[in-house]
Amino acid sequence: MAEDAGAGVVRVAVDAPQHSGLTGPLDYASEQALASGSLVRVPLGKRELLGIVWPGDAGAQPRVELRPVAAVFDALEPLGADWCRLVDFAAGYYQRSVGELASAVLPPQLRELSPEQLAARLRKLEKKPARAAAAAPVKPELAPEQAAAVERIAAQIASGAPKPLLLFGVTGSGKTEVYLRAAEAALAAGRQVLVLVPEINLTPQLEARFTERFAALLPEPLAIVSLHSALTPAQRLQNWLAAHLGRARLVLGTRLAVFASLPDVGLIVVDEEHDPSYKQQDGARYSARDLAVWRAYDLRIPVVLGSATPSLESWQHAESGRYERLTLAARIGGGALPRVRLFDMKALPPTTGVTTALTAPLLAELKARLERGEQSLVFLNRRGYAPVLHCGECQWKSDCPHCSAWRVFHKRDRTLRCHHCGFTERVPSACPNCGNHDIAPIGRGTEKLEEQLTEALPGARVLRIDADSTRRKGELEAQLKAVHDGDVDILVGTQMITKGHDFRRIRFVAAVNPDGALFSSDFRAPERLFALLMQAGGRAGRDATAETPAEMWVQTWHRDHALYQALARHDYVRFARDQLDERRSASLPPFSHLALLRAEARTAEAAKAFLVAAATLAQDEGVLVYPPVPHAVARVADVERMQMLVEATQRARLQAYLRDWLPTLIALKREHKAVLRWAVDVDPLAI
Ligand code: ADP
Ligand code: ZN
Ligand code: ZN
Repeated sequence: MAEDAGAGVVRVAVDAPQHSGLTGPLDYASEQALASGSLVRVPLGKRELLGIVWPGDAGAQPRVELRPVAAVFDALEPLGADWCRLVDFAAGYYQRSVGELASAVLPPQLRELSPEQLAARLRKLEKKPARAAAAAPVKPELAPEQAAAVERIAAQIASGAPKPLLLFGVTGSGKTEVYLRAAEAALAAGRQVLVLVPEINLTPQLEARFTERFAALLPEPLAIVSLHSALTPAQRLQNWLAAHLGRARLVLGTRLAVFASLPDVGLIVVDEEHDPSYKQQDGARYSARDLAVWRAYDLRIPVVLGSATPSLESWQHAESGRYERLTLAARIGGGALPRVRLFDMKALPPTTGVTTALTAPLLAELKARLERGEQSLVFLNRRGYAPVLHCGECQWKSDCPHCSAWRVFHKRDRTLRCHHCGFTERVPSACPNCGNHDIAPIGRGTEKLEEQLTEALPGARVLRIDADSTRRKGELEAQLKAVHDGDVDILVGTQMITKGHDFRRIRFVAAVNPDGALFSSDFRAPERLFALLMQAGGRAGRDATAETPAEMWVQTWHRDHALYQALARHDYVRFARDQLDERRSASLPPFSHLALLRAEARTAEAAKAFLVAAATLAQDEGVLVYPPVPHAVARVADVERMQMLVEATQRARLQAYLRDWLPTLIALKREHKAVLRWAVDVDPLAI
């Protein structure tokens, strides 16, 4: 039970703006004693905001008269002490205020409802009709490696101080079945289970599998719920409440679900733990994967991190023994991983003009597969028709007037669209600079690939899946169903289609233009590319009963590159070892710890001046502050973005440095009026 703060003064976590410098909970007067974790509404300035009564002692002798708590949500059970600890930790670690983080991770509708309205919602929850009775599920016999993994998870559950488990399983090795068995054990022990997935579009598939397995065991309404940002505000609140009340036993969700209130949680699963989507990219830039590990550690419960290509951070933890590694090296049913063919672009006869992504040998291969009635997947990580439109007369290019980026040509709706600021115009019929009518697209995106495939393979049923083709609700589900039902011969798409989907019919996967990431200035680019390609290849040959071997085709100008050589052998272990060696000698994560200070202003000079001044405000010989540099896309929507890297060999040292440094920046910002925003990103993923 949460302890009661005495009537009189209560500390309340509330979302005060950054410039106010109010980072901790604020004191309010209260006539009644309020348990910590209680939701309240409190005045702040002229507004009234949602707040949470925070654990810890309020200031003893208020020097000023305190404003009173405006309303108490007394129908709602207070948030648990463990939930407050999680938010306290995350706020400290990612350098945000507790109130900001708490209010950002609670369901948005809580901010709008009065205590009476919330009480009504809670009553409605009680009246949910029971679900139809479900038949007992059919559980497959575990493969030996799966059985061993399940046994180790059980051993960790029993240990009282479990180590995080890294489930390293090749694509199609049946990781989900391991999650299901581990979940079953936790549910049977009366505990709640939290399962995180990287993408919203993977939740329906996962929800279906978990529901199929547990519907009979968990017949109560709302016993299995999902939490992600595509839910309506009312659904999200309902599911959150179900979790908070302990009615939901199984909670599936995206990164925000790591903050679900779960009074009995006994197991956390993080599927595809390497996925960059676990890192929030604005506001409090938290890593849900890392917080899941912290939460599990705090509660002494097991956390299972699953991946075919673990993040190098997690891999290093397994190497050093901090995590226990569980390996699933074989595909279920003995299916082979696809043969990887590195197609050497240099071997093509030299052609004039623009090179083609759809090489003749690739087309021939697709055609052969088509004739055999097999499904293929062609992967290109760039949406739209062409990345830029170009005038051959005056060299005009379709740049964005507001960003340092090209506007992408979208042929279907004849627009030029900036993928950074959204600025959209109809495609001009002539060059806006010189009037030449002959303006042409350069390069290709998925839309063009789709068009070329349709032309080159008449009669083939080609389907494109990317962010453009799935804008409307239900579209993605319908498209995936068509793929599963075999109504599609060739699937074209971005990384959206490479993740997680259990496509049973695909035998051939082609990556037509993956080289770009090899030479990126971001030290994590190779890690991401390797994971992406392994993942894409993993979509092929998942049905071991098919006769022809599955194949992955990689078109490259750099066949001999170590990354591709490791890929061809499906050798993640070797790839990880090489990368970790490089990281160690360059003193990069996980062998050092980073933070980025970002600043935005109308001019690059103003942003830079702020960062340069900031760098002088704190010194520690254990912390290295690099000179400011422009962001990879320096200008977006007429705002210039600069960033400054902060590096330390010890995490605690970096944390202490940031804790002292950041409050001084609030004052500094007042002197630098031209700076629009500044923010810190701890453990940044993209440099
Ligand atoms: P991964 O997540 O490791 O890529 P999945 O969990 O999607 O792999 O499993 C691949 C396929 O194998 C799924 O269709 C799943 O239903 C099936 N499967 C998993 N475990 C078993 C098992 N023990 N016996 C039979 N089929 C299994
Ligand atoms: Zn022109
Ligand atoms: Zn733009």
